[in-house]
Amino acid sequence: MNFTHDTELTLRAACVLINSDRVQGEQLGDMAALDEYLDGFGWTGRRDRDDAELTAVHRLRERLGKIWAAADDEERTVGQVNALLSDTRASPWLTRHPEMPEWHLHLASIHDPLWQRMGAEMAMALADLIRAGELRRLKTCAAPDCEAVLVDLSRNRSRMFCDTGNCGNRQHVAAYRERRAKDS
Ligand SMILES: [Zn+2]
Ligand SMILES: [Zn+2]
Repeated sequence: MNFTHDTELTLRAACVLINSDRVQGEQLGDMAALDEYLDGFGWTGRRDRDDAELTAVHRLRERLGKIWAAADDEERTVGQVNALLSDTRASPWLTRHPEMPEWHLHLASIHDPLWQRMGAEMAMALADLIRAGELRRLKTCAAPDCEAVLVDLSRNRSRMFCDTGNCGNRQHVAAYRERRAKDS
């Protein structure tokens, strides 16, 4: 199952956003950190660079985290995604620009507040996933001490661990040690 490039990128951006306070404390605590995050995903459009903007992005982060947490309940997730589409007044239009030269959807005007543009695009990417019947690709890391989320875009949906804290390797080593301990 392949999603369009903008859907995959936006889902990854949503994961990085959600994980920005779940792995090593608050990583999105100031404007510089927010700039770096937005530049990393080629986000364009209006920026206010004030506390209200940052707070609104933090609120969006929390809301997205709840969507990931409820992803095994399809009806509930649909309700949450519809609410986000509605609250952000999502209205799709096609565009391309130097940051992303391929045609892709923007879901809000470049003059809308940052959280609204981010939220609308993330809600639309989640809607793509739901329409494809692929909601189970939204996962929480299987390492017992990790709350990071991931979107599993692998062919056979086999990913279990986040890519933020080397969790896959850590679990592998722990399982190995356990086996060794039992054998000796
Ligand atoms: Zn764009
Ligand atoms: Zn993890």
